[in-house]
Amino acid sequence: NDFYAPGMKQRELLGATRFMDAVTDDARLVMRVLADGNEQGGIALNYLKATGVMRSGSEVERNTKVIGLYLKDELSGKELQVQANAVVNASGAWTDELRQMLGNKKSIRPLRGSHLVIPFWRLPVAFSVSFFHPKDKRPVFVFPWEGQVVIGTTDLDHHNTMLSEASITENEVTYLLDAANSQFDHAALKREDIISSWSGVRPVVVDEYSAEDVAATNKPSDEKREHMVWDDAGCISIAGGKLTTFRLLALEVLRAAQPYLQNNLSISDLDAPSDFSESDESVLIGDHKLSKQRR
Ligand SMILES: Cc1cc2nc3c(=O)[nH]c(=O)nc-3n(C[C@H](O)[C@H](O)[C@H](O)COP(=O)(O)OP(=O)(O)OC[C@H]3O[C@@H](n4cnc5c(N)ncnc54)[C@H](O)[C@@H]3O)c2cc1C
Repeated sequence: NDFYAPGMKQRELLGATRFMDAVTDDARLVMRVLADGNEQGGIALNYLKATGVMRSGSEVERNTKVIGLYLKDELSGKELQVQANAVVNASGAWTDELRQMLGNKKSIRPLRGSHLVIPFWRLPVAFSVSFFHPKDKRPVFVFPWEGQVVIGTTDLDHHNTMLSEASITENEVTYLLDAANSQFDHAALKREDIISSWSGVRPVVVDEYSAEDVAATNKPSDEKREHMVWDDAGCISIAGGKLTTFRLLALEVLRAAQPYLQNNLSISDLDAPSDFSESDESVLIGDHKLSKQRR
């Protein structure tokens, strides 16, 4: 352990397990998927917000088919409408917003996860090290990332408005520093060591979530992390899940959308995994105009 994670507390240390896991650069994965989508005839537009759901029939009729979206260009303020046979709502922690317009109750419990970035030399680790926080026994990670080291993550109800960027709180900073210092006590990390932090909000799916009832529901970390696909009369929503399973989730969405599409999707053809591997850089970069530089 001292070889891969120097300074790890030896007292009461009985042993450790090493396991293999995948690492991805999430920003590059998104760029690659967008490039693939454009190549297949799709159009990716940034800063375009879905503000409403267009339905067939009269306004007062319920359960009529979804036939498109009302959109707003957040940069110019211009409003527009787009018609479609099927709409896919993959808006993460904001999934409830469109679903509530279709008469559904809230089903997303927004749980914030925050991370700290510290200089590599303050806590050099060869691999991701996972251990249990001494306070609540939640698993936390210390891992090398882009030449620095990340400590993460927290798992807390996000009561803030979803209109502003999520950010770390003082309590979370203390919680994460305590975690690292409990396992690497010689590091004695302090606030001054922190280079930066970032936070994200997990769309954790629960039955009829109500912020008022939250005290009576599970602790955040006890909530299941399974994804969910809903079909609201042609608006297919997906929430939850992991980056690691994104292709399978996309297939599930396509299967749910199939009944609304005129063309028969040959979904089984899409089951094959991508034909590129990490070792083949030319395929990864290819014609997608991604620079060789990661950042
Ligand atoms: C703290 C944290 C740690 C995580 N750790 C891991 C991990 O270790 N491994 C792993 O595999 N996964 C992890 N995940 C999960 C992973 O980040 C998600 O699975 C993934 O981001 C889901 O992608 P998505 O495109 O469905 O949703 P998101 O990435 O949430 O994207 C949703 C997008 O929809 C946009 N949007 C919202 N409302 C509207 C609207 N009305 N109109 C237009 N656009 C809208 C948002 O701006 C956003 O860009 C983690 C997530 C968090 C928050």
